[in-house]
Amino acid sequence: MDLTSIPIIDHHAHPLLRPEATQSAAGFRQWFTESTDPQVHARHVPHSLFFRTGLRWLAELLGCEPTLAAVLAARAARPYPAWVRQLFDDANIRLLFCDYGYQGETAYSHDEMQALLPCPVRPILRLETLAQDLIVQHDTFEQMLAAFVAAVGRAREEGYVALKSIVAYRTGLDITPVARDEARAAFVPVKEEARRNGRVRLASKPLCDYLVWQALALADGQDLPLQFHSGFGDRDADLRLANPLLLRSVIEQTKTQLVILHAGWPYYRELSHLAAIYRRVWLDLSLAIPLATTGIPTLLRDVLGMAPASKILFATDAFTMPEIFWLAARWGRWGLGRVLDEFVAEGFLTAAEAWQTAEAILGKNAGALYSL
Ligand SMILES: [Zn+2]
Repeated sequence: MDLTSIPIIDHHAHPLLRPEATQSAAGFRQWFTESTDPQVHARHVPHSLFFRTGLRWLAELLGCEPTLAAVLAARAARPYPAWVRQLFDDANIRLLFCDYGYQGETAYSHDEMQALLPCPVRPILRLETLAQDLIVQHDTFEQMLAAFVAAVGRAREEGYVALKSIVAYRTGLDITPVARDEARAAFVPVKEEARRNGRVRLASKPLCDYLVWQALALADGQDLPLQFHSGFGDRDADLRLANPLLLRSVIEQTKTQLVILHAGWPYYRELSHLAAIYRRVWLDLSLAIPLATTGIPTLLRDVLGMAPASKILFATDAFTMPEIFWLAARWGRWGLGRVLDEFVAEGFLTAAEAWQTAEAILGKNAGALYSL
């Protein structure tokens, strides 16, 4: 099946970096891995399938030799905005949701992203980053909490299409009920750190958990889905604490739609089960696609074998370079097409059902979930 004509709603991604940041070999190569080790970037990334195959595919598109030097020269020779448009148009990405919480100085702002991309861009509100800013700005727990509740409470009004929590790689997905007094007490040392350093990295479990519960209640009132990071995808992630099974008490107690990111990789079987039995749990495939590359059909075969196709969402989780969005779309369509071909050949689905499944996963499920 050739799925290129089915438009993608990329419901979880991050901003691009300014092109100067990715023009060198090292600056380009480092985004083909989750590793932050320069030795891995230099010695081992060139031997990864994601990089090797990606280079060949990009060289075909650019009409150059499939070497890193040739690809870098060819992309640098094009006006950056035109190159970005070409990649997004070719990837057939119709709508992008962007989480700006992961953002260095070289990343584009929301307005710049909207100007650069050929598709509409909608912002995602990252809870922990918001809380960190508010802890710096406010002296007391009650002031900080009031500001947090106000900001999250008007998220929909301000154009946000989803909330996002990274509690998985701060204090873990085992989010427990916290009394207000306990959260207030936990605020004291965190505020002290903020005073000392002028900024703070929120990693206090009582405070993180308390704020997530607040956000869940506020999300429900606005019909805003909450995206939870799960599984791999950040250097801070302790995978033992990022297993989506740990979300059980949240799943059982909330009325908010929960989008569990990255297929919970490597816990995608666990997540498939949760998505199959709980009406409010949605399984996102981002980052596992594209990084699993040749393993994508295996992932999809397992996931689709257990969870209804109506609960599964494609996204890229791409960031930094437009090429990553394009490669994620290509790997995703390839893997999904391949598995659906097998399902038709094996008599599990009709050709029409397979096509509807592809449409659902690439965009229609997101359209329904986010009320687009
Ligand atoms: Zn992400």
